[in-house]
Amino acid sequence: ATLSVASILAESAVRHADRPALLFAGTTTTYRELWEQTRAYAGALQAHGIGPGSRVAMIVPNVPDFARVYYAALSLGAIVVPVHLLLKSAEITYVLKDAGADLFVVAAPLLAEALPAAASAEVPVVTVLLPAGAPAPAGDLPRLEQEAAASTPLLRHTPTRPSDPATILYTSGTTGTPKGAVGSHLSIVEQVHCTLIDSFDLSADDIVFGGLPLFHTFGQTAVMNMAFRVGASVILLPRFDADEALALMVAHGATVFTAVPTMYVGMLEAAHRSDARPPLRYAVSGGAALPVVVLEAFREQFGADVHEGYGLTETAPIVSSNTLVEPIRPGTVGRALWGVDIAIADGEKDDAVVLLDDPDALGEIVVRGHNLFTGYLGRPEATDAAVAGGWFRTGDLGRYVDGVLTIVDRKKDMIVRSGYNVYPTEVEAVLAQHPGIAVAAVFGVPDHVRGQEIHAAVVAHDGVALDDAEVVAFVRDRIAAYKYPRTVHVIDELPLGASGKVLKRALVDRFTLQPA
Ligand code: ATP
Repeated sequence: ATLSVASILAESAVRHADRPALLFAGTTTTYRELWEQTRAYAGALQAHGIGPGSRVAMIVPNVPDFARVYYAALSLGAIVVPVHLLLKSAEITYVLKDAGADLFVVAAPLLAEALPAAASAEVPVVTVLLPAGAPAPAGDLPRLEQEAAASTPLLRHTPTRPSDPATILYTSGTTGTPKGAVGSHLSIVEQVHCTLIDSFDLSADDIVFGGLPLFHTFGQTAVMNMAFRVGASVILLPRFDADEALALMVAHGATVFTAVPTMYVGMLEAAHRSDARPPLRYAVSGGAALPVVVLEAFREQFGADVHEGYGLTETAPIVSSNTLVEPIRPGTVGRALWGVDIAIADGEKDDAVVLLDDPDALGEIVVRGHNLFTGYLGRPEATDAAVAGGWFRTGDLGRYVDGVLTIVDRKKDMIVRSGYNVYPTEVEAVLAQHPGIAVAAVFGVPDHVRGQEIHAAVVAHDGVALDDAEVVAFVRDRIAAYKYPRTVHVIDELPLGASGKVLKRALVDRFTLQPA
């Protein structure tokens, strides 16, 4: 049987041939064109020895070449290893070696970190986006565009079995060591179909803007694969910037916006600077908790509801969506997608998944279904620790009441202050109600008396001067005494990862007092 992620593009090239697939920097690429270019890229990759089971690493921002390389590799039956754009050389080396990469496709702007990594991992490099006349050594590298122009395009995509690996996505998950989560063709295709039927009301007439990087599962599957499956158009922006995003969405008439919460906050700020609004039908948030006040402000500014979903790299990514509950219940992440089971387990037990029967139980969210990854590449122990009895431990704490899931927090982010458990997300939701605060993050800092102390880092709205003591008092008035942050840091911006999520670890490091 053949079931391939590549057929998502191949089929749309037939059914939606003349519709725009990609809108980028003033150019439109139709489905027919994109598939032709992809087949030519596949021909070029083949000449590099890429075939079924080969591993093609790629470090490419959100430009059309991401899609070409991704589907070209998949159409050969190869496995795609998208590399995080912000990684430094040593980190890239780790990924290339761990994944056993056979070829590394590098976008020219990222050569500085990528080339030394490829050299130490001994992986051949081929470039995209390299300007003509670039100086050596970069100028001497093989260029995929040129090779594609001279190649014999692949005629049809190579059949793959549903269980064959399609992607290896690196995630630090709950343990901190980056691990390659292997996604199968089945997990991705099943995810796309179930989400489209259950949750995303998407058609060929839609114009989707995803603020998310395509190397991340959220952008890759929830934006690109889903839009391509129905023949919708995707607007690409290499690096998210809210003002540019707003202008692009207005110019192209975007109907769907998909992003992580920090991008919603950015869009609200951008909306103060510009009156133009895109004709959004709805928006999708995931990847981190969306404060209810942000959801409401977005609805008011953009006239569109925000559908919040929950998921992880290991789950293709979507597990649940609040579109499945009418009316939307802000603050929850809704019901499980069709074919996905959710349960609450005892988060203290590391050796087995012990499901909790109490319907109100607070515990670790566990998930099973066809959307699950097949394991961490080359790490049977880590895989066994994460998946037991078919259940995948998410590392997130939550409640699952009457089939509606509420995320309480990540297990590793929970603060234990003087023996009391404090969930940062709950405190952040209070901070988000403060009229002067744009974004906030709450985290635990080691404290020799209380174990951990509660700190908050907050960023003010444009032109607002925040007073830390006043912010402390604001939260203290609205939440139990053991939960309010004892120290508030007013800072210019929160440290964000490339996927737009707040890097809490960086905040903990920054505000932990170093011993003198
Ligand atoms: P990395 O492991 O790559 O450092 P990560 O831990 O954020 O990053 P991802 O797979 O990108 O890994 O994100 C999954 C996590 O994002 C979930 O485990 C959960 O903690 C969080 N998350 C996703 N959606 C939501 C949501 N709607 N509400 C709250 N948290 C969410």
